[in-house]
Amino acid sequence: KKKIAIMTSGGDSPGMNGVVRACVRMAIHLGCEAYCVYEGYEGLVRGGDFIRKMEWHDVRGWLSEGGTLIGTARCMAFYERPGRLIAAKNMIVHGIDAIIICGGDGSLTGADRFRAEWPSLLEELVSTKQLTEEQIKPYQSLNIVGLVGSIDNDLSGTDATIGCYSALARICEMVDYIEATASSHSRAFVIEVMGRHCGWLALMAGVATGADFIFIPEKPREDNWREEMRSVIEKHRKLGKRKTIVIVAEGAQDRHGAKITCEMLKDLLADKNGLALDTRITTLGHVQRGGTAVAYDRMLGTLQGVEAVKAVLEASPETETCFIAITENKIVRKPLMEAVRDTKEVAQAIDMHDFDKAMALRDHEFAD
Ligand code: ADP
Repeated sequence: KKKIAIMTSGGDSPGMNGVVRACVRMAIHLGCEAYCVYEGYEGLVRGGDFIRKMEWHDVRGWLSEGGTLIGTARCMAFYERPGRLIAAKNMIVHGIDAIIICGGDGSLTGADRFRAEWPSLLEELVSTKQLTEEQIKPYQSLNIVGLVGSIDNDLSGTDATIGCYSALARICEMVDYIEATASSHSRAFVIEVMGRHCGWLALMAGVATGADFIFIPEKPREDNWREEMRSVIEKHRKLGKRKTIVIVAEGAQDRHGAKITCEMLKDLLADKNGLALDTRITTLGHVQRGGTAVAYDRMLGTLQGVEAVKAVLEASPETETCFIAITENKIVRKPLMEAVRDTKEVAQAIDMHDFDKAMALRDHEFAD
């Protein structure tokens, strides 16, 4: 019986529990044994009770739970080879044949590195007499499949990451609440949403709430943005709008790489010689991450979890490490490292203030 492990790693996102539930049950359905690695790579390095066998009923009711019930962590040890060596040993000691990892681009990079290193890790385990030739024999290759759990929708190669629609729904709900009070007092609100290198949440929330103005990292505004913002808001106010909503992604910056801060925007909106609006700042923070998954993320986690189990069982040493994407509404397998590379390139371009490159690299249809 093949033993398949599933873990969640990096930042948590709504829908991860649906992924774990789907993987556990699909593995059992296909006649395999299902395991969960608790606390991400930390659990893989610690071994023992962090790697637990799961039964069908163990994941009952998990679809409607937020966060990740098997825990997630940042694990420093896994960045270094000695940590990965212990992780490899723990997998073999527990008899794990394959692993499915749900996390962000960092977690998926770690997974690919682990897989690439696997043969040399086995060699070292034998040469240092931690395991025997006999023990490592059934584990000559490591099958890994990735699933993207992220609220930012920041991975290239997939239309949606597991959790992004839940975060978006939460933001819209919060903006609705803020709008009611903003309208009552005729106030302006600057609302900061998550997204360091990806403006998807800010952009989509702007569209979905009819915000007056938005700022995203990958497409800074022209240098006259202050005047532009003022004239747009002035126009909206003249049309009778009693509230002003400006949405800013965490990573928003101007063309020259200077951070666009909420305070800066507040001062501009409140400027007595300008719009002179009574302005407040709301940073939504972790409410965007928490709470239960919306229907879309439950569905995505479930369908992708099922596909991940199939993919990990069909993987062979010759095949590239894949991750499960959704492209034009179809659940598909894609090369993992290509997507990670593209994602990192966008982030680097933004950090280097090469916004034309960042935009050219963005494969999301929301680019324009
Ligand atoms: P995310 O998966 O959400 O992008 P991180 O970048 O923090 O979050 O990655 C989660 C964990 O994955 C890290 O704490 C580390 O254990 C592992 N990891 C990330 N990048 C690498 C890497 N280059 N090599 C090995 N492990 C990595």
